[in-house]
Amino acid sequence: MDIHCRYCGEPWEHDSLHNMGERIGMDLEYFPAAERFKALGCKAFRPDTGRLREIAGLPSKPKHCTRASILPADMLRHIADSQDMSDYPEEWADPIEIEIMSEVAEEMFG
Ligand SMILES: [Zn+2]
Repeated sequence: MDIHCRYCGEPWEHDSLHNMGERIGMDLEYFPAAERFKALGCKAFRPDTGRLREIAGLPSKPKHCTRASILPADMLRHIADSQDMSDYPEEWADPIEIEIMSEVAEEMFG
């Protein structure tokens, strides 16, 4: 199962949240990792250490993903809404499911 960045739509392997802490050498459990992905998307586990902040001796400040979107805007909105509504990544919307649901809705009501 994949989860998707709410900013660009890029798919991520859901199971990677389980051992993300280990991967990035940080104390990060599954739910905090999911929370972080929800807030920052693709950049969740690659915090940007701004050069100027570094020079100024300030801690790095994580920034959210700013990549160009690979999904239509309404799909990104569905994904973001589903992530805001649930803390469980397994319940987050998937573009394929969204597409199927909107096709079904169109057949029923269109
Ligand atoms: Zn992204």
